[in-house]
Formats: sequence, structure tokens, C-alpha cells
Amino acid sequence: MTPRGLLIVVSGPSGAGKGTICKSLISEYKDIGISVSATTREPRDGEVDGKNYFFLKKEKFQSMIHNDELLEYAKVYQNYYGTPKKFVLDKVLSGEDVLLEIDIQGALQVKEKYPEGIFVFILPPSMEELKNRIINRGSETEDSFKLRYSSALDEMSFIKDYDYFIINDEIHKATSKLICIIEAEKNRIISNIGELINEFKEENRC
Ligand code: 5GP
Repeated sequence: MTPRGLLIVVSGPSGAGKGTICKSLISEYKDIGISVSATTREPRDGEVDGKNYFFLKKEKFQSMIHNDELLEYAKVYQNYYGTPKKFVLDKVLSGEDVLLEIDIQGALQVKEKYPEGIFVFILPPSMEELKNRIINRGSETEDSFKLRYSSALDEMSFIKDYDYFIINDEIHKATSKLICIIEAEKNRIISNIGELINEFKEENRC
């Protein structure tokens, strides 16, 4: 029996910096696969189809929903985003660890379907810093700023549904904490350890 890989879900309010932490993790920690999401948003400059996202037309995204090809999906600021199910489950079931960087609505859906996942909530260092990040992210109008800021505040309450939190005050520290969480989880004694030990004993009996 191959032990399953870890499914690590990194999520948190918009502006907390989850994307930056995940990019930093991938460059420092090679031993993990990253899920490439599907989205209906247009590619930004420099983004590559199949690497940053699978950029899809709305009809194709809807057909993936219809055919149950997504582990989760959500509408985030006018665009749809979703996690292709087969890629993630094939890897986890074959023993590889996979990282998902997704919004909170999506993380809660993954938790419903795959509660064995490790759910990590990223917090901004302060509300002042969160405001600055939302402004810098291109909230041009007062209304769009207020919408993003108040959604981020509301999203904070979902921290209770997660296993760990990381305060993103300094990127290297935050990345090291994520690596510590992954390493600790790799050494967790899993619930089916009894079965694995019995198999091990059978294989090694003389
Ligand atoms: P961006 O358009 O800036 O790349 O991403 C916008 C938001 O969508 C971010 O909060 C990001 O975490 C979230 N996101 C990216 N991929 C997925 C996904 O597959 N599922 C969900 N639910 N959210 C996603």
C-alpha cells in the first residue's frame, strides 16, 4: 500500500500574500508538485497557458463543472477559478505532495471533499499593510477598495476552519514556517499506520 502524498492548501484573504509565499516555497523546496488552476480570466503580461493557469473560455470552464472535472471552483472578482481534480488526486494517491494556492471559498470545498488535506491560513502582518497591498493591487476607485477591504475583513473569520496560520510579515520567515509545517506533517503518524505496519511485518517475516 503506497502512503498518500500530502494535499497542502494555502489560502487566506485577498492581499495577505499567499501567492508570494507559494512562489517562494516552490523555488526553495523542490519536493512538491503545484496544481495549475483553470481560470476564465485573461492572461496577464508574461503569464503562460498551462504554467500559470489553464486560461479557458467560460463555456469550457462550465463543461468542466458539468463533467465533475474540478475538485473545487469559485468566482473570485468576476472570474472563475478551479482546481483540476484528476491532476491533484492522481499525484496524491501515488504518494506525491501537492500544493494548492486557492481562495477561501475553494479551500472550504476541498475540506468538505478531502478533510485529510492540510489547511494553512495566511494572515497579513497588519490591517494597515493589508490596506496598502489592496491599494497597490489596483483598486482604482474608493468603492472597489472598500469592497476588497471589507471582503478581506469578512474572510478573516474563516481562520477557524484551518489547521495552521502563518503571519506573512517577512517572506523568508513565512516560507520557512510553511516548510516546517510540511515537514512536520510528513512525520505525522497516520491513522492507517496499523495496516501499514502489518504489511511491513508480512513482507519482512523470515
Ligand atoms: P489571480 O487572478 O490574482 O491570479 O488570483 C485571484 C485569486 O484567485 C487569488 O486569491 C487566488 O488564490 C485565487 N485562485 C487561484 N486559483 C484558484 C483555484 O483554482 N480555485 C480557487 N477557488 N481560487 C483560486
